[in-house]
Amino acid sequence: MNNIMLIPFSPPRIDDKIIAEVSEALRSGWITTGPRTKKFEQKIAQYVNVPRVVCLNSGSAGLELALRWYGVQEGDEVIVPAYTYCATANVVVHCGVKPVMVDVREDFNIDVDQIKAAITDKTKAIIPVDIAGYPCDYDEINRIVNDPEMKSKFQAHTPEQKKLGRILVLSDAAHSIGAEYKQKKTGSLCDLTVFSFHAVKNLTTAEGGAICIALPEPFDTDEIYSELVTKSLHGQTKDALAKTKPGNWRYDVVEPGYKCNMTDILASIGLVELERYEQDMLVKRKEIFDSYSSVFSQYDLFEVPEYESENKKSSYHVYPLRIKGITEEQRDLLIQKIAEQGVGVNVHFIPLPMLTAYKSRGYRIEDFPVSYDLYSREISLPVYYDLTPEMINIVIQTILSLQGDIKDFLNKN
Ligand SMILES: *Cc1c(COP(=O)(O)O)cnc(C)c1O
Repeated sequence: MNNIMLIPFSPPRIDDKIIAEVSEALRSGWITTGPRTKKFEQKIAQYVNVPRVVCLNSGSAGLELALRWYGVQEGDEVIVPAYTYCATANVVVHCGVKPVMVDVREDFNIDVDQIKAAITDKTKAIIPVDIAGYPCDYDEINRIVNDPEMKSKFQAHTPEQKKLGRILVLSDAAHSIGAEYKQKKTGSLCDLTVFSFHAVKNLTTAEGGAICIALPEPFDTDEIYSELVTKSLHGQTKDALAKTKPGNWRYDVVEPGYKCNMTDILASIGLVELERYEQDMLVKRKEIFDSYSSVFSQYDLFEVPEYESENKKSSYHVYPLRIKGITEEQRDLLIQKIAEQGVGVNVHFIPLPMLTAYKSRGYRIEDFPVSYDLYSREISLPVYYDLTPEMINIVIQTILSLQGDIKDFLNKN
């Protein structure tokens, strides 16, 4: 196999501008949480139109901090989709709480009707996940938690729970920064929203995450911002920067907090990424999605994903192509063949009940038939800034070259 062009799945966009900004942060004399992190928080808040954003060292930390802030504890339940990355449920387990899994819909997102059925008097939070960058039905989810009958079931144990008086909606928007639901950006669509800036995500800081605060009255957003920041820094009343002011050494620790703050080195990457995100990155990603869909929608063998509708606009994070009528084993064989042609593809995601950590906790994939069906026929195609039209064409031709294999599979099934 000569002259094979290797196409990676999802490399980050690292160019001279990023390197220059990181160098400047390094030379500035301040490398941990400081002015660049605070500026990045404000820029994200402006971009998604929320009053306050807290930056952290990962999206997972953001989800866990949000749950800890709300005070979920043993005996409570938190509703998550079965079809997601493990982080969504792992953070629930860390809090000593049982994740209650529900199945998803054909658009890969949590099935809102099943949320309703899964709510009990122990439910404290719902974590909808905007899979592949496509927003969930937030109006429907917000309507459920605000429904008087659901509110009357809710049992508040902490001051935060009493204040909200209902189930918390905590969006896992690890994939969906920049996506829109009814002309509003993710981050502003429910109580708390968490972004991830991990290396493979749309907007990266290598590792990183953020919590967007959009809690309703009577919550004081500034107060919650400082509570979350304090929680992310061992419960310390002053951060390292504040303590550098001459004579400003004394601090208190108000609770045994966590350690998950963002550094200014990483924020400097995020500032460059965000500046060119909407007009450059999202435009490019949409073009890639459009290229794939314009071809694959012409063939009966393929099912293309929904990424735009009247109310929704994706952030074009993952392009989940599905093959009609094949089995999980056949999908794996196709991925093998694609890899042999030098194209990096992936599967998003293995449903949680199929992973040892959750299988051993008693979850069964048979209870989530839609999740299994989506997973078993799914192949995620490469989507990233530096993917050229020539490379897109190679990906397309590689997939189309499998038609004979797919037809053989279907004849067998
Ligand atoms: C990546 C991801 C996370 C976790 O983000 P990190 O920043 O890696 O901690 C959470 N949920 C989903 C769905 C993800 O894909």
